[in-house]
Amino acid sequence: MAELHDVTKRYGDVAALSGVSLGIDHGELVGIVGPSGSGKSTMLNMLGTLDRPSGGTVRIAGHDVLSLTDRQLSALRANVIGFVFQQFHLAAGVPALDNVADGLLYAGPSPRERRLRAYDALERVGLGHRLGHRPHELSGGERQRVAIARAVVGDPRLLLADEPTGNLDSHSGAGVMELLRELNSGGTTVVVITHDRDIAASLPRQVEMLDGRVVPDARVGLVEGTRS
Ligand code: ADP
Repeated sequence: MAELHDVTKRYGDVAALSGVSLGIDHGELVGIVGPSGSGKSTMLNMLGTLDRPSGGTVRIAGHDVLSLTDRQLSALRANVIGFVFQQFHLAAGVPALDNVADGLLYAGPSPRERRLRAYDALERVGLGHRLGHRPHELSGGERQRVAIARAVVGDPRLLLADEPTGNLDSHSGAGVMELLRELNSGGTTVVVITHDRDIAASLPRQVEMLDGRVVPDARVGLVEGTRS
Protein backbone atom coordinates (compact mmCIF):
# COMPACT_ATOMS: atom_id res chain seq x y z
CA MET A 1 0.00 0.00 0.00
CA ALA A 2 2.82 2.38 0.96
CA GLU A 3 6.54 2.04 0.53
CA LEU A 4 9.20 4.49 1.63
CA HIS A 5 12.75 3.76 0.59
CA ASP A 6 15.64 5.74 2.06
CA VAL A 7 13.43 8.84 2.31
CA THR A 8 14.96 12.13 3.33
CA LYS A 9 13.04 15.35 3.91
CA ARG A 10 14.91 18.57 4.58
CA TYR A 11 13.51 21.93 5.62
CA GLY A 12 16.47 24.24 5.08
CA ASP A 13 19.14 22.97 7.48
CA VAL A 14 16.73 20.71 9.37
CA ALA A 15 16.48 17.06 8.35
CA ALA A 16 12.93 16.15 9.38
CA LEU A 17 13.46 12.64 7.94
CA SER A 18 16.89 11.05 7.47
CA GLY A 19 16.92 7.89 5.37
CA VAL A 20 13.59 6.33 6.37
CA SER A 21 12.60 2.99 4.85
CA LEU A 22 9.22 1.52 5.67
CA GLY A 23 6.61 -0.67 4.03
CA ILE A 24 2.95 -0.75 4.96
CA ASP A 25 0.90 -3.62 3.56
CA HIS A 26 -2.68 -3.46 2.43
CA GLY A 27 -4.97 -4.08 5.42
CA GLU A 28 -2.50 -3.12 8.15
CA LEU A 29 -3.29 -1.02 11.23
CA VAL A 30 -0.11 0.82 12.18
CA GLY A 31 0.74 3.32 14.90
CA ILE A 32 3.52 5.85 14.38
CA VAL A 33 4.91 6.88 17.74
CA GLY A 34 7.72 9.06 18.99
CA PRO A 35 8.46 12.30 20.81
CA SER A 36 7.57 15.74 19.48
CA GLY A 37 9.88 16.74 16.63
CA SER A 38 10.84 13.14 15.78
CA GLY A 39 9.37 13.38 12.28
CA LYS A 40 5.92 11.79 12.69
CA SER A 41 3.96 14.52 10.90
CA THR A 42 6.54 14.70 8.14
CA MET A 43 6.17 10.94 7.73
CA LEU A 44 2.39 11.33 7.50
CA ASN A 45 2.84 14.08 4.91
CA MET A 46 4.94 11.66 2.86
CA LEU A 47 2.39 8.85 3.18
CA GLY A 48 -0.41 11.27 2.32
CA THR A 49 1.49 12.71 -0.68
CA LEU A 50 0.99 16.17 0.85
CA ASP A 51 4.67 16.82 0.35
CA ARG A 52 7.44 15.33 -1.79
CA PRO A 53 10.62 13.79 -0.43
CA SER A 54 13.96 15.61 -0.81
CA GLY A 55 15.56 12.24 -1.51
CA GLY A 56 14.60 8.59 -1.75
CA THR A 57 11.41 7.01 -3.07
CA VAL A 58 7.81 7.15 -1.89
CA ARG A 59 5.35 4.78 -3.54
CA ILE A 60 1.68 4.97 -2.63
CA ALA A 61 -0.75 2.43 -4.10
CA GLY A 62 1.92 1.62 -6.67
CA HIS A 63 2.57 5.21 -7.74
CA ASP A 64 5.98 6.83 -7.41
CA VAL A 65 5.12 10.19 -5.85
CA LEU A 66 8.09 11.99 -7.42
CA SER A 67 6.96 11.03 -10.91
CA LEU A 68 3.43 12.43 -10.56
CA THR A 69 2.30 15.96 -11.41
CA ASP A 70 0.47 18.04 -8.79
CA ARG A 71 -2.77 17.27 -10.56
CA GLN A 72 -2.09 13.53 -10.48
CA LEU A 73 -1.18 13.75 -6.80
CA SER A 74 -4.49 15.50 -6.06
CA ALA A 75 -6.31 12.73 -7.90
CA LEU A 76 -4.39 10.09 -5.96
CA ARG A 77 -5.31 11.78 -2.67
CA ALA A 78 -8.97 12.15 -3.67
CA ASN A 79 -9.32 8.53 -4.76
CA VAL A 80 -7.05 6.57 -2.45
CA ILE A 81 -6.37 8.48 0.78
CA GLY A 82 -8.51 9.78 3.64
CA PHE A 83 -7.22 12.19 6.31
CA VAL A 84 -8.27 12.70 9.92
CA PHE A 85 -6.73 15.47 12.03
CA GLN A 86 -6.48 16.23 15.73
CA GLN A 87 -8.42 19.49 15.25
CA PHE A 88 -11.24 17.82 13.23
CA HIS A 89 -11.16 20.58 10.54
CA LEU A 90 -14.92 20.61 10.01
CA ALA A 91 -16.58 23.59 8.33
CA ALA A 92 -18.18 25.75 11.05
CA GLY A 93 -21.95 26.26 10.82
CA VAL A 94 -22.32 23.49 8.23
CA PRO A 95 -24.55 20.48 9.07
CA ALA A 96 -22.81 17.12 9.56
CA LEU A 97 -24.35 15.68 6.39
CA ASP A 98 -22.92 18.47 4.23
CA ASN A 99 -19.56 18.42 5.99
CA VAL A 100 -19.29 14.75 5.04
CA ALA A 101 -20.73 15.18 1.53
CA ASP A 102 -18.06 17.81 0.85
CA GLY A 103 -15.49 15.04 1.24
CA LEU A 104 -16.63 13.88 -2.21
CA LEU A 105 -16.37 17.27 -3.95
CA TYR A 106 -13.23 16.29 -5.81
CA ALA A 107 -14.36 12.77 -6.64
CA GLY A 108 -17.14 13.90 -8.94
CA PRO A 109 -20.53 12.31 -8.02
CA SER A 110 -23.73 14.39 -8.27
CA PRO A 111 -24.87 16.42 -5.22
CA ARG A 112 -27.67 13.92 -4.57
CA GLU A 113 -25.26 10.97 -4.71
CA ARG A 114 -22.85 12.84 -2.45
CA ARG A 115 -25.55 13.31 0.18
CA LEU A 116 -26.67 9.68 -0.03
CA ARG A 117 -23.12 8.47 0.45
CA ALA A 118 -22.59 10.98 3.26
CA TYR A 119 -25.65 9.57 5.00
CA ASP A 120 -24.23 6.04 4.68
CA ALA A 121 -20.87 7.19 6.06
CA LEU A 122 -22.51 8.91 9.05
CA GLU A 123 -24.52 5.75 9.72
CA ARG A 124 -21.29 3.77 9.64
CA VAL A 125 -19.73 5.96 12.34
CA GLY A 126 -22.88 5.77 14.47
CA LEU A 127 -24.13 9.29 13.76
CA GLY A 128 -27.16 8.60 11.57
CA HIS A 129 -29.19 10.57 14.13
CA ARG A 130 -27.03 13.72 13.91
CA LEU A 131 -27.30 14.59 10.22
CA GLY A 132 -28.47 18.17 10.70
CA HIS A 133 -26.26 19.00 13.67
CA ARG A 134 -23.59 21.64 13.16
CA PRO A 135 -20.11 21.13 14.63
CA HIS A 136 -20.79 23.42 17.64
CA GLU A 137 -23.85 21.30 18.49
CA LEU A 138 -21.77 18.11 18.69
CA SER A 139 -19.43 16.74 21.37
CA GLY A 140 -15.72 16.42 20.62
CA GLY A 141 -16.06 12.68 20.06
CA GLU A 142 -18.99 13.22 17.71
CA ARG A 143 -17.08 15.88 15.77
CA GLN A 144 -14.21 13.48 15.28
CA ARG A 145 -16.69 10.83 14.08
CA VAL A 146 -18.05 13.30 11.53
CA ALA A 147 -14.46 14.00 10.44
CA ILE A 148 -13.85 10.26 10.10
CA ALA A 149 -17.07 9.87 8.10
CA ARG A 150 -15.83 12.63 5.79
CA ALA A 151 -12.47 10.90 5.47
CA VAL A 152 -14.01 7.54 4.53
CA VAL A 153 -17.01 8.68 2.47
CA GLY A 154 -15.02 8.14 -0.73
CA ASP A 155 -13.97 4.62 0.40
CA PRO A 156 -10.23 5.36 0.55
CA ARG A 157 -7.91 2.38 0.72
CA LEU A 158 -5.56 4.27 3.05
CA LEU A 159 -6.73 6.24 6.09
CA LEU A 160 -4.19 8.52 7.78
CA ALA A 161 -5.00 9.90 11.22
CA ASP A 162 -2.81 12.53 12.90
CA GLU A 163 -3.36 12.39 16.69
CA PRO A 164 -7.09 11.64 16.19
CA THR A 165 -7.71 11.36 19.95
CA GLY A 166 -5.47 14.28 20.94
CA ASN A 167 -8.41 16.62 21.68
CA LEU A 168 -10.71 14.03 23.23
CA ASP A 169 -11.32 12.72 26.73
CA SER A 170 -10.25 9.12 27.22
CA HIS A 171 -13.77 7.69 26.77
CA SER A 172 -14.39 9.47 23.44
CA GLY A 173 -10.83 8.68 22.40
CA ALA A 174 -11.40 4.98 23.02
CA GLY A 175 -14.57 5.16 20.90
CA VAL A 176 -12.71 6.80 18.04
CA MET A 177 -9.95 4.15 18.21
CA GLU A 178 -12.60 1.43 18.18
CA LEU A 179 -14.11 3.00 15.07
CA LEU A 180 -10.70 3.08 13.36
CA ARG A 181 -10.30 -0.61 14.22
CA GLU A 182 -13.69 -1.39 12.70
CA LEU A 183 -12.79 0.45 9.51
CA ASN A 184 -9.53 -1.51 9.42
CA SER A 185 -11.45 -4.79 9.86
CA GLY A 186 -13.49 -3.76 6.84
CA GLY A 187 -10.29 -3.70 4.76
CA THR A 188 -9.04 -0.11 5.05
CA THR A 189 -5.33 0.30 5.73
CA VAL A 190 -5.05 2.64 8.73
CA VAL A 191 -2.04 4.63 9.94
CA VAL A 192 -2.38 6.51 13.23
CA ILE A 193 0.09 9.02 14.63
CA THR A 194 -0.08 9.06 18.40
CA HIS A 195 2.09 10.09 21.30
CA ASP A 196 -0.20 8.07 23.61
CA ARG A 197 1.74 4.95 24.58
CA ASP A 198 -1.42 3.07 25.64
CA ILE A 199 -3.08 3.65 22.30
CA ALA A 200 0.09 2.69 20.48
CA ALA A 201 0.43 -0.48 22.54
CA SER A 202 -3.10 -1.49 21.57
CA LEU A 203 -2.24 -1.48 17.85
CA PRO A 204 -0.96 -4.57 16.04
CA ARG A 205 2.13 -2.75 14.71
CA GLN A 206 4.08 0.22 15.95
CA VAL A 207 6.67 2.25 14.10
CA GLU A 208 8.80 4.23 16.51
CA MET A 209 10.40 7.47 15.29
CA LEU A 210 13.38 9.24 16.81
CA ASP A 211 15.35 12.15 15.31
CA GLY A 212 13.90 11.66 11.84
CA ARG A 213 14.62 7.94 11.73
CA VAL A 214 12.66 4.77 12.32
CA VAL A 215 13.91 2.94 15.40
CA PRO A 216 14.49 -0.68 14.34
CA ASP A 217 11.89 -3.13 15.75
CA ALA A 218 14.39 -4.92 17.97
CA ARG A 219 15.29 -1.64 19.63
CA VAL A 220 11.63 -0.77 20.20
CA GLY A 221 11.38 -3.96 22.24
CA LEU A 222 14.53 -3.03 24.09
CA VAL A 223 13.35 0.49 24.84
CA GLU A 224 9.93 -0.77 25.98
CA GLY A 225 11.63 -3.38 28.12
CA THR A 226 13.89 -0.78 29.70
CA ARG A 227 10.96 1.45 30.56
CA SER A 228 8.84 -1.16 32.27
P1 ADP B 1 6.58 15.43 14.95
O1 ADP B 1 5.34 15.29 14.13
O2 ADP B 1 7.13 14.12 15.41
O3 ADP B 1 6.42 16.39 16.10
P2 ADP B 1 7.63 16.86 12.66
O4 ADP B 1 7.58 15.91 11.51
O5 ADP B 1 6.54 17.87 12.75
O6 ADP B 1 7.74 16.03 14.02
O7 ADP B 1 9.00 17.64 12.64
C1 ADP B 1 10.29 17.03 12.50
C2 ADP B 1 11.35 18.13 12.46
O8 ADP B 1 11.22 18.87 11.25
C3 ADP B 1 11.25 19.12 13.59
O9 ADP B 1 12.55 19.50 13.95
C4 ADP B 1 10.50 20.27 12.96
O10 ADP B 1 10.83 21.48 13.61
C5 ADP B 1 10.98 20.24 11.53
N1 ADP B 1 9.95 20.72 10.58
C6 ADP B 1 8.78 20.11 10.31
N2 ADP B 1 8.08 20.80 9.39
C7 ADP B 1 8.84 21.89 9.08
C8 ADP B 1 8.66 23.00 8.19
N3 ADP B 1 7.57 23.11 7.41
N4 ADP B 1 9.65 23.92 8.15
C9 ADP B 1 10.75 23.80 8.90
N5 ADP B 1 10.98 22.77 9.76
C10 ADP B 1 10.04 21.84 9.85
